Amino acid sequence: MNKRIMVTGGAGFIGSHLCDRLVEQEEDVLCVDNYFTGSRNNIRHLLNHQNFEVLRHDVTFPLYVEVDQIYNLACPASPVHYQFDPVQTTKTSVHGAINMLGLAKRVKARIFQASTSEVYGDPEIHPQVESYWGKVNPIGIRSCYDEGKRCAETLFFDYYRQHGLDIKVVRIFNTYGPRMAKNDGRVVSNFITQALAGEDITIYGDGTQTRSFCYVDDMIDAFVAMMATEKGFTGPVNVGNPGEYQIGELAETIVSLCKTSSKVIYKPLPQDDPRQRQPDITLAKEKLDWQPKVGLIDGLNETIAYFRNLAD
Ligand code: NAD
Ligand code: UDP
Ligand code: UDP
Repeated sequence: MNKRIMVTGGAGFIGSHLCDRLVEQEEDVLCVDNYFTGSRNNIRHLLNHQNFEVLRHDVTFPLYVEVDQIYNLACPASPVHYQFDPVQTTKTSVHGAINMLGLAKRVKARIFQASTSEVYGDPEIHPQVESYWGKVNPIGIRSCYDEGKRCAETLFFDYYRQHGLDIKVVRIFNTYGPRMAKNDGRVVSNFITQALAGEDITIYGDGTQTRSFCYVDDMIDAFVAMMATEKGFTGPVNVGNPGEYQIGELAETIVSLCKTSSKVIYKPLPQDDPRQRQPDITLAKEKLDWQPKVGLIDGLNETIAYFRNLAD
């Protein structure tokens, strides 16, 4: 029997790739999305597939469906989008988690939470390990996202302890690839869009801050591996690519891959922008038998090809 799998945020960047993978594995997929940052274009190719169904729904409201597994990805993920309506961002993380956990409890479904490296905030230890509690500003402009995701983790672990739910929590580090929204303000999509249009590349701050970038296909491998771990293994598990780059280096790489004449300009660093970020993935290697396979240049080339196509 195919499993009935619900993906919240399934019309988004990562969610749509997850839907692709699950449909490919012949599972019955229910994609739930309110299209806040996602797009029908991301899932258009799946709409006629017999194993795929879409429901336009906002997870801050209760939802009664019968499923075997839930991947909870619904949440705007880029600073521009999650700061657009910060109250709704917190509601999506917190009320969304409560509703999805309530649903999982009722139907006894295994439930996966897409948490984030942002739970570590501006980290004091490097690279970040799962046992680190983080350094997060509770009242800043990133807090709606960071604290919302931290509270969602709290809820997951309380439903696990109090109600015996079968939970799987991953902390996702910066992920990129085709179907990132062009206007979402994230560094990879911004730099590629700017480079392809021959516009200035906007580095915030001096460009020495670091991030570690994981290609989306690798991320989906990690999700599916996490969901297949034995009951009782809850995580949290870091998932990301440990290859760490300065933002200035990323700009140079994208300029050279796009063969553009764009020049780099510097803009102010946003408030609470983390200085550095790199996942320690020892636990993922051990428990999921997973590590990323796609290098930055290959992944960027795929992503550039996608954005070039959009522009045509
Ligand atoms: P995305 O914005 O492309 O996808 C999020 C999806 O959730 C969108 O389709 C959006 O319409 C939907 N959504 C938002 N609010 C909703 C609501 N209230 N009800 C129903 N649907 C709603 O972002 P993404 O990059 O694909 O991120 C997916 C998940 O992974 C998010 O939970 C995000 O926090 C997490 N994550 C992503 C990254 C990354 O680098 N991309 C890093 C860490 C964590
Ligand atoms: N819920 C839902 N779908 C379900 C079951 C529950 O959306 O199939 C929501 C419902 O809104 C509820 C929340 O999940 O308030 C939490 O459910 P739980 O059973 O934990 O708590 P309670 O019903 O006691 O509030
Ligand atoms: N950034 C940048 N130029 C841009 C967009 C982002 O220099 O046009 C920087 C941003 O300040 C941050 C890093 O790139 O230091 C990653 O930003 P992103 O929004 O992609 O992810 P996050 O900060 O959530 O890790």
